[in-house]
This record gives sequence, C-alpha cells and structure tokens, in this order.
Amino acid sequence: MADTTPATRAIEVRNLHKCYGDNEVLKGIDFHVDAGQVVCVIGPSGSGKSTLLRCVNRLEEPTSGQVIIEGIDITDENTDLDAVRSRIGMVFQQFNLFPHMSVLRNLTIAQQRVKKRSKDEAVAIAKANLEKVGLLGKADAYPAHLSGGQQQRVAIARALSMNPDMMLFDEPTSALDPELVGDVLQVMKDLAAEGMTMMVVTHEMGFAREVGDKLVFMDGGVIVEEGDPRQVLGNPQHERTQAFLSKVL
Ligand code: ADP
Ligand code: MG
Repeated sequence: MADTTPATRAIEVRNLHKCYGDNEVLKGIDFHVDAGQVVCVIGPSGSGKSTLLRCVNRLEEPTSGQVIIEGIDITDENTDLDAVRSRIGMVFQQFNLFPHMSVLRNLTIAQQRVKKRSKDEAVAIAKANLEKVGLLGKADAYPAHLSGGQQQRVAIARALSMNPDMMLFDEPTSALDPELVGDVLQVMKDLAAEGMTMMVVTHEMGFAREVGDKLVFMDGGVIVEEGDPRQVLGNPQHERTQAFLSKVL
C-alpha cells in the first residue's frame, strides 16, 4: 500500500485495537500528532490512555491496526523497531530512574550503550540537559536524595539526552505533591516552546489549555471528542466529555 502520510506527521494511529484476553481496551483509535504539535490526552481511569501511549512505541503489541512513526509503520514486522523507538522519548508517572546510579550516570548510560557515544560526549550532553531542567547542581546526587519533582525532571533530561524526535508523557505529574507539579510543567512548557513534538496524558487541564495544540478525550477505549483544547474544555460537545469535565474542572 502506498504510504500517503505527510512528512510532517510524527505519529499516526489508524484503526488501533488492543485486547487483553476478552477485554477490548482500545476499540478502533484513529489519531495523529504532527511534528511540533503538543497533543494532550485526557479521560477517566481505565479508558485506555496508557495503553494507547504504550502502543505508540510498541511497549504494548497492538492487536490490530497501524502505528506509523514519521512515515514508518512500526506494526510492520520488517520494521527495525529499535531504530524507530530511539526517536521516541518516554516519561512515566513513576520516574523509573536507576536508584543505584548518580543522576549523571542515569543520563549517560544509555547514551554510551545504545548511542555508542564516548563518555566525554555523553557527559557533555547530559550536563546540557540537566541545565535545561534546572538540575545541573544535582549531577552527582542519587535519585533517593531528590524530591519527586526533581526526579521527574531528571527523567525528562534523561529522555532528552537520547535526542528523540518526540516525547511521550504518561501522567508525568500525577505522582507528585502539588507544590512540585509546577516545576515539571514548566520544563514541559519550555520543551513545547522549543518545538518538541509531544503526546501528553495528563489531568492538568491548565497545561492542556495553555500549551496543547489539540486535546483528545478518551472514554471506554474510544476517542469521544477531540479538538482545540479551549474549545473542548470550554464547550464540550458530548455528554460523556461534559460529565468527565464537570468532575475534574
Ligand atoms: P488509563 O491509562 O486510561 O487509566 P489503561 O490503558 O491503563 O487506562 O487501562 C485500560 C484498561 O486496560 C483497564 O481496564 C486496565 O485494567 C486494562 N489493562 C491495562 N493493562 C493491562 C494488562 N497488562 N493486562 C490486562 N489488562 C490491562
Ligand atoms: Mg494510565
């Protein structure tokens, strides 16, 4: 089949289905993120947001449908999955830092092992990214000695150190104490302003409104509604969107 995906399309998901046994969790998702866009995904717990995100870099195997990253179908068995994955940075709710390594080592290890960078180069890139998230002074600290917000900023810097074309965030601030959320969101805002392509599962409606180019509302494994965030948040068209927003806004 000829691929008609425009070059500017970073992520394209076509008729994506995902089943766990008899439980169909994604029921035909069509959606895309263009290069440089920030797309936020909201929806109730269990609606399939994390599963969708994980299918985008094939941490989960889709049951059927296509996921096309920068024009490359990663559901095609001939695709070099590692090569495509290396273009995608991922940040989780739980920061997943290596606890027995310093912050700096957390940022250099994959650069050296996967990207085959020299130690000096990896350290230079790591330090530049730590500076970007405001944590250059913590290079020698261990994760346990950092606040949750600092750990999450390190996780973002670690992902950035691999020079991804796009970043996926799965509720990056949901595990944080409220006073720590702002610093992480600020780092994400800066990243968006630099033109990073981002797909963000979040409950931070302010972030979605301010930074998002598009807002997607999922419920029960389908996209119920999507559009301009101000439109969706301010004037939701579907009853299910209205019901959800009335609980969270
Ligand atoms: P959300 O992120 O929107 O809260 P998830 O994508 O995590 O939703 O989960 C959607 C549904 O899929 C839930 O019913 C959940 O129990 C189920 N699910 C998620 N991961 C698995 C798994 N590995 N095995 C079985 N069921 C799963
Ligand atoms: Mg989730």
